[in-house]
Amino acid sequence: MSHFLDRLTYFGSPKELFANGHGVVTGEDRTWEDAYRNRWAHDKIVRSTHGTNCTGSCSWKIYVKGGIVTWETQQTDYPRTRPDMPNHEPRGCARGASYSWYLYSANRLKYPLVRGRLLKHWRDARRSQDPVAAWASIVESDQKRRDYQQVRGLGGFVRSSWDEVNEIVAAANVYTIKKYGPDRVVGFSPIPAMSMVSYAAGSRYLSLIGGVCMSFYDWYCDLPPSSPQVWGEQTDVPESADWYNSTFIIAWGSNVPQTRTPDAHFFTEVRYKGAKTVAVTPDY
Ligand code: SF4
Repeated sequence: MSHFLDRLTYFGSPKELFANGHGVVTGEDRTWEDAYRNRWAHDKIVRSTHGTNCTGSCSWKIYVKGGIVTWETQQTDYPRTRPDMPNHEPRGCARGASYSWYLYSANRLKYPLVRGRLLKHWRDARRSQDPVAAWASIVESDQKRRDYQQVRGLGGFVRSSWDEVNEIVAAANVYTIKKYGPDRVVGFSPIPAMSMVSYAAGSRYLSLIGGVCMSFYDWYCDLPPSSPQVWGEQTDVPESADWYNSTFIIAWGSNVPQTRTPDAHFFTEVRYKGAKTVAVTPDY
Protein backbone atom coordinates (compact mmCIF):
# COMPACT_ATOMS: atom_id res chain seq x y z
CA MET A 1 0.00 0.00 0.00
CA SER A 2 1.32 3.46 -0.77
CA HIS A 3 2.27 5.91 1.92
CA PHE A 4 -0.61 8.13 0.80
CA LEU A 5 -3.18 5.35 1.32
CA ASP A 6 -1.56 4.52 4.66
CA ARG A 7 -2.44 8.02 5.81
CA LEU A 8 -6.05 7.73 4.68
CA THR A 9 -6.51 4.44 6.53
CA TYR A 10 -4.38 5.38 9.51
CA PHE A 11 -7.04 4.94 12.21
CA GLY A 12 -8.46 1.73 10.72
CA SER A 13 -5.20 -0.11 10.08
CA PRO A 14 -4.22 -2.97 12.41
CA LYS A 15 -1.49 -2.39 14.95
CA GLU A 16 0.14 -4.96 17.17
CA LEU A 17 1.81 -3.96 20.40
CA PHE A 18 4.83 -5.66 21.93
CA ALA A 19 7.22 -5.14 24.86
CA ASN A 20 4.35 -4.19 27.16
CA GLY A 21 3.18 -1.49 24.80
CA HIS A 22 6.57 0.13 24.31
CA GLY A 23 6.74 -1.07 20.70
CA VAL A 24 4.18 -1.27 17.91
CA VAL A 25 4.10 -3.27 14.66
CA THR A 26 2.18 -1.62 11.83
CA GLY A 27 1.52 -2.60 8.24
CA GLU A 28 2.39 0.72 6.64
CA ASP A 29 4.35 1.05 3.42
CA ARG A 30 8.12 1.12 3.86
CA THR A 31 9.31 1.16 0.26
CA TRP A 32 10.46 4.77 0.74
CA GLU A 33 13.30 3.33 2.83
CA ASP A 34 14.77 1.83 -0.35
CA ALA A 35 16.06 5.26 -1.30
CA TYR A 36 18.37 5.08 1.73
CA ARG A 37 19.29 1.46 1.05
CA ASN A 38 20.22 2.37 -2.51
CA ARG A 39 22.26 5.30 -1.26
CA TRP A 40 24.47 2.93 0.72
CA ALA A 41 24.49 0.03 -1.77
CA HIS A 42 27.66 -0.82 -3.68
CA ASP A 43 28.98 -3.18 -6.36
CA LYS A 44 32.54 -3.49 -5.14
CA ILE A 45 35.09 -2.22 -2.66
CA VAL A 46 38.48 -0.93 -3.81
CA ARG A 47 41.47 0.34 -1.83
CA SER A 48 42.62 3.91 -2.22
CA THR A 49 43.77 7.02 -0.40
CA HIS A 50 43.54 10.79 -0.76
CA GLY A 51 46.58 11.82 -2.73
CA THR A 52 45.73 15.45 -3.41
CA ASN A 53 46.97 17.93 -0.84
CA CYS A 54 47.56 15.29 1.83
CA THR A 55 50.59 13.21 2.71
CA GLY A 56 48.70 11.06 5.21
CA SER A 57 48.32 8.19 2.71
CA CYS A 58 45.73 6.53 4.95
CA SER A 59 44.33 3.31 3.55
CA TRP A 60 40.62 3.47 2.79
CA LYS A 61 37.91 1.15 1.53
CA ILE A 62 36.14 2.89 -1.35
CA TYR A 63 32.61 1.61 -2.01
CA VAL A 64 31.76 1.90 -5.69
CA LYS A 65 28.39 1.56 -7.41
CA GLY A 66 28.05 1.88 -11.16
CA GLY A 67 31.50 3.47 -11.32
CA ILE A 68 30.52 6.12 -8.74
CA VAL A 69 32.05 6.36 -5.28
CA THR A 70 29.16 6.04 -2.85
CA TRP A 71 31.00 6.13 0.48
CA GLU A 72 34.28 5.30 2.20
CA THR A 73 35.43 3.65 5.39
CA GLN A 74 38.86 3.25 6.94
CA GLN A 75 40.86 0.09 6.26
CA THR A 76 41.82 -1.87 9.35
CA ASP A 77 44.43 -4.28 7.99
CA TYR A 78 47.65 -2.45 8.79
CA PRO A 79 50.53 -4.62 9.91
CA ARG A 80 51.74 -4.22 13.48
CA THR A 81 54.86 -2.06 13.83
CA ARG A 82 56.18 -3.84 16.89
CA PRO A 83 54.47 -5.74 19.71
CA ASP A 84 55.19 -2.94 22.20
CA MET A 85 53.78 -0.18 19.98
CA PRO A 86 50.14 0.88 19.52
CA ASN A 87 48.45 -0.03 16.25
CA HIS A 88 48.58 2.48 13.42
CA GLU A 89 44.94 1.89 12.61
CA PRO A 90 42.43 3.17 12.11
CA ARG A 91 44.10 5.95 10.16
CA GLY A 92 41.98 8.69 8.68
CA CYS A 93 40.34 12.03 9.27
CA ALA A 94 37.02 13.78 8.73
CA ARG A 95 38.36 15.53 5.63
CA GLY A 96 39.26 12.19 4.08
CA ALA A 97 35.89 10.68 4.98
CA SER A 98 34.15 13.27 2.80
CA TYR A 99 36.81 13.22 0.11
CA SER A 100 34.60 11.59 -2.52
CA TRP A 101 32.47 14.73 -2.49
CA TYR A 102 35.41 16.55 -4.06
CA LEU A 103 35.40 14.09 -6.95
CA TYR A 104 31.91 15.11 -8.00
CA SER A 105 31.94 18.70 -6.81
CA ALA A 106 30.85 21.33 -9.30
CA ASN A 107 33.88 23.32 -8.13
CA ARG A 108 36.37 20.66 -9.18
CA LEU A 109 38.83 21.82 -11.84
CA LYS A 110 38.76 19.46 -14.80
CA TYR A 111 40.25 21.64 -17.50
CA PRO A 112 43.22 23.99 -17.68
CA LEU A 113 42.34 27.61 -17.00
CA VAL A 114 44.34 30.61 -18.14
CA ARG A 115 43.90 34.27 -17.32
CA GLY A 116 41.69 35.62 -20.09
CA ARG A 117 43.84 38.65 -20.88
CA LEU A 118 46.99 36.55 -21.25
CA LEU A 119 45.22 34.05 -23.46
CA LYS A 120 43.95 36.82 -25.73
CA HIS A 121 47.48 38.17 -26.20
CA TRP A 122 48.80 34.63 -26.75
CA ARG A 123 46.22 33.73 -29.39
CA ASP A 124 46.75 37.05 -31.18
CA ALA A 125 50.52 36.53 -31.24
CA ARG A 126 50.30 32.86 -32.27
CA ARG A 127 48.42 33.76 -35.46
CA SER A 128 51.62 35.04 -37.02
CA GLN A 129 54.51 33.82 -34.84
CA ASP A 130 56.06 30.60 -33.60
CA PRO A 131 55.49 29.82 -29.89
CA VAL A 132 58.74 31.23 -28.48
CA ALA A 133 58.52 34.42 -30.55
CA ALA A 134 54.87 34.77 -29.52
CA TRP A 135 55.77 34.53 -25.84
CA ALA A 136 58.61 37.03 -26.30
CA SER A 137 56.24 39.48 -27.96
CA ILE A 138 54.06 39.42 -24.84
CA VAL A 139 56.60 39.53 -22.02
CA GLU A 140 58.88 42.02 -23.75
CA SER A 141 56.03 44.45 -24.23
CA ASP A 142 55.47 46.51 -21.06
CA GLN A 143 51.94 47.28 -22.10
CA LYS A 144 50.94 43.64 -22.79
CA ARG A 145 52.75 42.26 -19.73
CA ARG A 146 51.15 44.79 -17.40
CA ASP A 147 47.78 44.21 -19.01
CA TYR A 148 47.56 40.67 -17.62
CA GLN A 149 49.85 40.96 -14.60
CA GLN A 150 47.99 43.87 -13.00
CA VAL A 151 44.76 41.87 -12.79
CA ARG A 152 46.32 39.00 -10.84
CA GLY A 153 44.14 38.08 -7.91
CA LEU A 154 41.01 39.35 -9.63
CA GLY A 155 39.91 36.12 -11.29
CA GLY A 156 39.15 36.27 -14.99
CA PHE A 157 40.28 32.73 -15.86
CA VAL A 158 38.94 31.10 -18.99
CA ARG A 159 39.01 27.52 -20.19
CA SER A 160 41.83 26.42 -22.46
CA SER A 161 43.08 23.03 -23.72
CA TRP A 162 46.01 20.92 -22.57
CA ASP A 163 47.69 21.34 -25.98
CA GLU A 164 47.47 25.09 -25.70
CA VAL A 165 48.70 25.41 -22.11
CA ASN A 166 51.51 22.92 -22.72
CA GLU A 167 52.64 25.07 -25.61
CA ILE A 168 52.53 28.23 -23.48
CA VAL A 169 54.56 26.57 -20.69
CA ALA A 170 57.09 25.14 -23.15
CA ALA A 171 57.45 28.46 -24.97
CA ALA A 172 57.93 30.33 -21.69
CA ASN A 173 60.57 27.82 -20.53
CA VAL A 174 62.49 27.96 -23.82
CA TYR A 175 62.32 31.76 -23.83
CA THR A 176 63.68 31.97 -20.27
CA ILE A 177 66.45 29.44 -20.96
CA LYS A 178 67.58 31.26 -24.11
CA LYS A 179 67.52 34.68 -22.50
CA TYR A 180 68.60 34.05 -18.89
CA GLY A 181 69.89 30.46 -18.69
CA PRO A 182 68.32 27.17 -17.57
CA ASP A 183 68.94 27.77 -13.86
CA ARG A 184 66.33 30.55 -13.98
CA VAL A 185 63.62 27.94 -14.47
CA VAL A 186 62.61 27.04 -10.94
CA GLY A 187 60.01 24.40 -10.31
CA PHE A 188 58.38 22.07 -7.90
CA SER A 189 57.08 18.58 -8.43
CA PRO A 190 54.43 16.95 -6.21
CA ILE A 191 55.53 15.30 -3.03
CA PRO A 192 57.51 12.08 -3.65
CA ALA A 193 55.92 10.42 -0.63
CA MET A 194 52.49 10.41 -2.18
CA SER A 195 52.66 10.84 -5.97
CA MET A 196 55.81 9.17 -7.22
CA VAL A 197 54.93 9.31 -10.92
CA SER A 198 54.05 13.00 -10.83
CA TYR A 199 57.11 13.72 -8.73
CA ALA A 200 59.41 11.83 -11.09
CA ALA A 201 58.01 13.55 -14.19
CA GLY A 202 58.55 17.07 -12.87
CA SER A 203 61.87 16.51 -11.14
CA ARG A 204 63.32 14.68 -14.16
CA TYR A 205 62.16 17.42 -16.51
CA LEU A 206 63.81 20.11 -14.38
CA SER A 207 66.98 18.05 -13.98
CA LEU A 208 67.30 17.39 -17.71
CA ILE A 209 66.92 21.04 -18.71
CA GLY A 210 69.26 22.21 -15.94
CA GLY A 211 66.54 23.91 -13.94
CA VAL A 212 66.20 24.22 -10.18
CA CYS A 213 64.14 21.48 -8.56
CA MET A 214 62.74 22.78 -5.30
CA SER A 215 61.31 20.65 -2.54
CA PHE A 216 57.71 20.75 -1.46
CA TYR A 217 58.76 22.43 1.77
CA ASP A 218 60.16 25.39 -0.18
CA TRP A 219 56.98 25.62 -2.15
CA TYR A 220 54.39 25.24 0.60
CA CYS A 221 56.49 27.22 3.07
CA ASP A 222 55.44 24.81 5.83
CA LEU A 223 58.94 23.70 6.75
CA PRO A 224 59.83 24.57 10.32
CA PRO A 225 63.02 26.39 9.24
CA SER A 226 65.01 25.83 12.41
CA SER A 227 65.16 22.08 11.80
CA PRO A 228 67.36 22.15 8.67
CA GLN A 229 69.24 25.18 9.99
CA VAL A 230 70.21 23.37 13.19
CA TRP A 231 70.39 19.74 12.09
CA GLY A 232 71.22 20.12 8.40
CA GLU A 233 68.31 17.98 7.31
CA GLN A 234 64.63 18.34 6.69
CA THR A 235 61.99 17.16 9.09
CA ASP A 236 61.30 13.84 7.37
CA VAL A 237 63.03 12.01 10.17
CA PRO A 238 61.36 9.51 12.49
CA GLU A 239 57.89 8.33 11.63
CA SER A 240 55.01 9.43 13.82
CA ALA A 241 54.84 6.08 15.63
CA ASP A 242 58.20 6.99 17.16
CA TRP A 243 56.42 9.65 19.21
CA TYR A 244 55.40 6.72 21.36
CA ASN A 245 59.05 6.27 22.38
CA SER A 246 59.31 9.85 23.67
CA THR A 247 59.23 11.04 27.24
CA PHE A 248 59.00 14.75 26.46
CA ILE A 249 57.33 16.27 23.39
CA ILE A 250 57.26 19.92 22.38
CA ALA A 251 54.51 20.68 19.85
CA TRP A 252 55.73 23.93 18.43
CA GLY A 253 53.27 25.86 16.30
CA SER A 254 51.31 22.73 15.46
CA ASN A 255 47.90 21.49 16.46
CA VAL A 256 48.65 17.81 15.90
CA PRO A 257 45.08 16.42 15.97
CA GLN A 258 44.14 18.98 13.34
CA THR A 259 47.17 18.89 11.06
CA ARG A 260 48.28 15.27 11.48
CA THR A 261 44.99 13.64 12.38
CA PRO A 262 45.79 9.98 11.51
CA ASP A 263 48.95 10.01 13.63
CA ALA A 264 47.73 12.16 16.52
CA HIS A 265 46.78 9.10 18.57
CA PHE A 266 50.48 8.27 19.12
CA PHE A 267 50.83 11.71 20.72
CA THR A 268 47.87 11.02 22.99
CA GLU A 269 48.82 7.43 23.79
CA VAL A 270 52.36 8.21 24.91
CA ARG A 271 50.92 10.51 27.56
CA TYR A 272 49.42 7.42 29.23
CA LYS A 273 53.02 6.24 29.66
CA GLY A 274 53.83 9.46 31.51
CA ALA A 275 55.32 11.52 28.68
CA LYS A 276 55.18 15.24 29.30
CA THR A 277 53.95 17.47 26.48
CA VAL A 278 54.41 21.19 26.00
CA ALA A 279 52.64 23.32 23.38
CA VAL A 280 54.14 26.53 22.03
CA THR A 281 51.36 28.19 20.09
CA PRO A 282 51.68 31.81 19.05
CA ASP A 283 48.20 31.68 17.54
CA TYR A 284 46.24 31.50 20.83
S1 SF4 B 1 44.92 12.33 6.67
FE1 SF4 B 1 42.77 12.43 6.04
S2 SF4 B 1 42.79 13.28 3.91
FE2 SF4 B 1 44.88 12.56 4.42
S3 SF4 B 1 44.98 10.46 3.59
FE3 SF4 B 1 44.39 10.33 5.78
S4 SF4 B 1 42.14 10.29 5.76
FE4 SF4 B 1 42.82 11.03 3.74
